[in-house]
Amino acid sequence: MSRIYNFSAGPAVLPEEVLKEAAEEMLDYRGCGMSVMEMSHRSKVYETIIKEAEADLRELMNIPDNYRVLFLQGGASQQFAAIPMNLMKNKVADYIVTGQWAKKAFQEAQIYGKANKIASSEDETFSYIPDCSDLPVSQDADYVYICENNTIYGTKFKTLPNTKGKTLVADVSSCFLSEPVDVTKYGLLYGGVQKNIGPAGVVIVIIREDLITEVTLPGTPTMLKYKTHADAESLYNTPPAYGIYICGKVFKWLKKMGGLEIMKQRNEEKAKILYDFLDESKLFRGTVRKEDRSLMNVPFVTGDDQLDAKFVKEAKAAGLENLKGHRSVGGMRASIYNAMPKEGVEALVAFMKKFEEENK
Ligand SMILES: *Cc1c(COP(=O)(O)O)cnc(C)c1O
Repeated sequence: MSRIYNFSAGPAVLPEEVLKEAAEEMLDYRGCGMSVMEMSHRSKVYETIIKEAEADLRELMNIPDNYRVLFLQGGASQQFAAIPMNLMKNKVADYIVTGQWAKKAFQEAQIYGKANKIASSEDETFSYIPDCSDLPVSQDADYVYICENNTIYGTKFKTLPNTKGKTLVADVSSCFLSEPVDVTKYGLLYGGVQKNIGPAGVVIVIIREDLITEVTLPGTPTMLKYKTHADAESLYNTPPAYGIYICGKVFKWLKKMGGLEIMKQRNEEKAKILYDFLDESKLFRGTVRKEDRSLMNVPFVTGDDQLDAKFVKEAKAAGLENLKGHRSVGGMRASIYNAMPKEGVEALVAFMKKFEEENK
């Protein structure tokens, strides 16, 4: 067996320890004689798995008691609709559009009410985060929406927007658990787990209790109501049971690593290795404004499409995979999530140096 360094933006690298443990438990989960995949989600054993996963996540993120944690399906994209359906009481919401994912959420919200784009960085192909200290937040906005880490473009909000008292809603798919966050600053934060936490098929919603109400937009399906899942503690129907089990293992791995403060330090250290090289390289350059750089997704280019393609091909042959940039932007992108070891980033930079030498 040999494992490559996987720089995919998602589904993405998971901690090797977690995968090994899951493999060991595959046929017989702790004496049950069956796999977690084969187990009733109503069983005592599974109840322990999902309860522990939630408790560990609460501990890691320091989630206050007045917030609920929901383990759902449908990916992050389903939340683009669920959020307005549940939260648009006045049918007005403000969106800050800093990339394709925020744009998709903004477009989806227009189906359900008046969605206003109050800031955008589309004028410079989403290569920066706009100043959000004094935006024209709508008087009657039900919430202000952001995508906190822009997976495709590699930018991140370093300070949250001033929402002028309105509820903040954030898509944190690609920065989930990468550093500590103050949950109380958000009304709702959510993410697909396939970027930084677990296998595709699970989306985690963390929502303040008072935002979970009986009243939703007319026509909201039962399955899209937060109340349905909150009341049933994420067991209204069959949840993505195996995926939640793996997420639970990743939470335990993060606790063992020392928690989110330590992960932040590790992630800063890893990102610095790559960004420092990009800043000194004569061949490669980063594509986003320095102060807005993401710790998780690092896009870069040579400026020559053919050379970019050659780089991606040769990197793959050297065991550094999935470095091709998103189809909408081209170039390269290295996603260096929690589970990417520092050695992986060092190997990437060593390869980039060699490539630069050979392609002067
Ligand atoms: C990947 C991604 C999505 C889409 O996730 P799906 O689970 O495929 O719907 C949404 N937002 C962000 C920030 C992402 O990185």
